[in-house]
Amino acid sequence: MNADMKTLRCNCCGNELPSDTIKFVVEVRSFADFDGYLEEYEGDIEDGVNSLLDNIDEMEDDGFDADEASRDSIYILCKKCRDNFLSDPFQIGSMAFDAENRKGTLH
Ligand SMILES: [Zn+2]
Repeated sequence: MNADMKTLRCNCCGNELPSDTIKFVVEVRSFADFDGYLEEYEGDIEDGVNSLLDNIDEMEDDGFDADEASRDSIYILCKKCRDNFLSDPFQIGSMAFDAENRKGTLH
């Protein structure tokens, strides 16, 4: 085993992810949906996204900031965090749980 090899860490909990551990790559893609463009698009949603991104490219020439309109983020997660993320991407459940806990400690 090469000790110099950089150890990957889970982007969520920070736990080390040794090379013999299963890692999960979560790709988050967000882009602006101009005026409900995608909802009105008739046909393959993938085609709709592509022409939307083409439009963004054209708008970029006009000074539109494409970075603001479209953003891809890639995270490497351990299995536990991947499962947590997929079951509750915005951690709404755990926030509610925290609020419950705090209430419980107040009396
Ligand atoms: Zn993790």
